[in-house]
Amino acid sequence: MNEIRLHNTLSGKTELFTPQTPGEVKMYTCGPTVYDFAHIGNFRTFIFQDILRRFLKLRGFKLNHVMNLTDVDDRIIANAAAAKIGIREYTEKYAQAFFDDCKTLSVEAPEHWIRATDHIPEMVRLIERLQKKSFTYDGEGSIYYRIAKFPEYGKLSKIDLTGIQSGARVDNDRYEKESARDFALWKAPKEGEHFWETEIGKGRPGWHIECSAMAMKYLGETLDIHTGGIDLAFPHHENEIAQSEGATGKQFSRYWLHAEHLLVEGEKMSKSLGNFYTLRDLFGKGHKPSSLRFALASVPYRRQLNFTFDGLQQAASSIERLRTFSDRLKQGKFPAGSNPAMAGRVAKADNDFDAGLSEDLNTAIALAAIFDFVREANIAMDKGEFKQGEVAAALELLGNFERVFAIIQDDDAAKLKALGFGAAEGEIGDAEVEKLVAERNAARARRDFATSDRVRKELADRGIILEDSRDGGVRWKRK
Ligand code: AMP
Ligand code: ZN
Repeated sequence: MNEIRLHNTLSGKTELFTPQTPGEVKMYTCGPTVYDFAHIGNFRTFIFQDILRRFLKLRGFKLNHVMNLTDVDDRIIANAAAAKIGIREYTEKYAQAFFDDCKTLSVEAPEHWIRATDHIPEMVRLIERLQKKSFTYDGEGSIYYRIAKFPEYGKLSKIDLTGIQSGARVDNDRYEKESARDFALWKAPKEGEHFWETEIGKGRPGWHIECSAMAMKYLGETLDIHTGGIDLAFPHHENEIAQSEGATGKQFSRYWLHAEHLLVEGEKMSKSLGNFYTLRDLFGKGHKPSSLRFALASVPYRRQLNFTFDGLQQAASSIERLRTFSDRLKQGKFPAGSNPAMAGRVAKADNDFDAGLSEDLNTAIALAAIFDFVREANIAMDKGEFKQGEVAAALELLGNFERVFAIIQDDDAAKLKALGFGAAEGEIGDAEVEKLVAERNAARARRDFATSDRVRKELADRGIILEDSRDGGVRWKRK
């Protein structure tokens, strides 16, 4: 097995990965802000962290992974106040939608899935610790973090702090590098806004304190890995470091991993450009969950990903190739014996796959390892050179691949149905397709070709394409 190396934003280098406790990884991921449906850009980042956790598990690490839902921030407070409902009521719908989206894209549940609003006392405690160490000051009922008191401020995002006026402050949760200032840990309530009554006064937490308090509660004062999208490095993660290290005097996270952004057809995704997509928008256009997962996972996380509809189609046909190969392998109609050259080929693919992911999670190399192998193995099968002896090792290779990429299992239809995109009236359901396919197989077996052709035509009329493999198996798919 290969050494695992990860790019650490903190050092700016790709480093050997070693957790604090051998065999165990403490990892924190900034989850979504549940003020709306998540978009495919958000899922670029969530699929990156999913591939990371799945790969670490494949390599035998025990994961302790926390992901939060930010269910209180400026936008949520403002939208809930405008709708005249409580923030829990406002966010519930989007929180549920996020969980459903994760299931649909096979994003594994982390060990702890937590909400910011369930952790207000922990945030208050952390602010009190910072108050005791004079990292804070008050202003009009709010509490601010004094960045001049933390000389290492800027070490993650490498911002230049010269010229920043001490005492100048910013109240917004999200702001640009140019407005690096003292930021709000606790915000005084405004008229009509949700607030909590606490030991440090009435108000609500700033966004940044949420993640520091929650991460340290579940993972201890020093994490192994902290992940998020690149836009979170400043100010969110910089402020998490200032808060946590200010309070504890210890390093907050040893590795910081950031995913580059997703663009759509070369442009930043935005509602005004009309290129802004949620998962549901794509499923509504007939795209499959597995195609989206594959398209989002296929570009290494530190490269910008240019999402295109062409790319999504290509993802769908790549997946078909893998599923067809997997079926061919499982049907197992190969000559007895073993072929040492092919055994070596399987071992090489296994190593290349691991080497790709070990080198800062290079999914492109890992995928190439699998697809090259599939191409060569298919050729060998056609020539009768792929023997029974290699089936188990090849299945194990695909199994390892599937544990990380999770796209071979063909459960798209069921997932879509669960999200409300199931077979519409008049459309054929999976069970009925299976029944008709079995009928056709039986007809063919008794050489009743009239019946088998009729069933094939009926299926085609109802949008189902049948593919007969060389080995006598049959696969079906929707047009
Ligand atoms: P948010 O809900 O805005 O806090 O974002 C949730 C996650 O999605 C964060 O890790 C963001 O950095 C990430 N994110 C937001 N926009 C994009 C994008 N276009 N591409 C990739 N990741 C993104
Ligand atoms: Zn966060």
